[in-house]
Amino acid sequence: MKFIDSHSHWTDKRWALQGEGLAETLKKCLEKNIDFFLLGGVDPDDWHKQISLKKTYPDNFGLCFGLHPYFVSDHGYEECEFSLDELAELLPQAMALGEAGLDFRPHIMKDSQTRQIEFFENQIELAKAFQKPMVLHIVQAHEKARQIFHLWDAPERGGLVHAFNGSYETAKPYIDQGFLISVGGAITYEKNKKLQDCVKKIPMEYLLLETDSPDQAPEGWQGLNNPTSLYLVAEAVGLIRNISAFDVLEISSGNFKRLFRL
Ligand SMILES: [Zn+2]
Repeated sequence: MKFIDSHSHWTDKRWALQGEGLAETLKKCLEKNIDFFLLGGVDPDDWHKQISLKKTYPDNFGLCFGLHPYFVSDHGYEECEFSLDELAELLPQAMALGEAGLDFRPHIMKDSQTRQIEFFENQIELAKAFQKPMVLHIVQAHEKARQIFHLWDAPERGGLVHAFNGSYETAKPYIDQGFLISVGGAITYEKNKKLQDCVKKIPMEYLLLETDSPDQAPEGWQGLNNPTSLYLVAEAVGLIRNISAFDVLEISSGNFKRLFRL
């Protein structure tokens, strides 16, 4: 059985600067039977890096293109519009549209709230037009996301809520709209009772595992978070659900395949 990391950033420049190199990291993952990675899309630059990465390793990476809320927050309306056009052109070759969503933390949001909402809605429409599942990045904005999906309806193909770190009550409306809940390093933190309670209650068929590598390292992790940490995430979920880490990995990888019709 091979396992899947539902969300990681292999095109992040930190790998080249601080990491041991992509080929070496991939080798370690393959040795541990983690062999497929859905990338997290950030901006046009990143989409092009993903395309060339997939040319080198066609079997190991899934393309995912979207305008991240960080990008939308940092760029003006015109540049976002221009990038959205490029997204529409490149999207047919991707597995999913994302990261797209809302990040209302004050230091991220600054004056971009209206722009974030508009480009999130535009990307929901694109996901529907191209029949792609979405990868959502929602931070401190679940209420607004709920309103938007209520107004516009979620894309038919659903998607996943990446790096979910909330309560069961927050997760439930996403599940009802056809989204899977993807948990990462945050579940390994002993103090994170809210997320532990959520993982205890959500139906197993709605659960995915991710590393968000090189971000969101598990508790106690040293150095850059590489995707072999998927086992620590699986272990933490297994402890909560009273099943083995391998069973968790098998279930989450199966859920991923169902979502993406693999
Ligand atoms: Zn990410």
